[in-house]
Amino acid sequence: MSDEGLLVTGIPTSEELARVTPPRERREKGPCVMIECFQRIPCDPCHYSCRFGAIKEFEDINDVPEVDWDKCTGCGMCIAACPGLAIFVVDESTGNEECRIAMPYEFVPLPEKGERVRLFDRAGTEVGTGVVERVIPGQKPQGTPVVWVRAPKELSLVARHLAVNREG
Ligand code: SF4
Ligand code: SF4
Repeated sequence: MSDEGLLVTGIPTSEELARVTPPRERREKGPCVMIECFQRIPCDPCHYSCRFGAIKEFEDINDVPEVDWDKCTGCGMCIAACPGLAIFVVDESTGNEECRIAMPYEFVPLPEKGERVRLFDRAGTEVGTGVVERVIPGQKPQGTPVVWVRAPKELSLVARHLAVNREG
């Protein structure tokens, strides 16, 4: 992973990611949010989308989100509300070999439940495959579709994009 920084490469550094990564014990308990939003920008719908109060209230609209993982249920509602496509849910409670990842997906066609999809890291490098477990279509006016995939456990903190294998 590049450590040159988000502003240079568009890819967060390992230090930036460490600040937003749920602790292993929390990931192994069940689904929890990982908000990869690092820049101070005037944006806060993630806070208002969380009915559990897990994304703390912003003192300034330019603040970056802060998460209370004890309150997060891993529902994924905030993923659909984020215009920056910066929010993911990871779940490492499903066993030794597998994890679940929920990610935003704004392309067509949407993948289908049961479909095997290609997975990519933050730099766009293909890292493996996963199987679609659930697809939540976006709801108007702004909702982004959310795709849940089952993937090898080692990809829980790595896979952040997917591609369907079908032709257009
Ligand atoms: S996943 Fe659900 S509970 Fe967790 S921060 Fe997002 S909206 Fe809140
Ligand atoms: S909605 Fe998305 S882009 Fe906006 S502050 Fe929240 S995480 Fe960042």
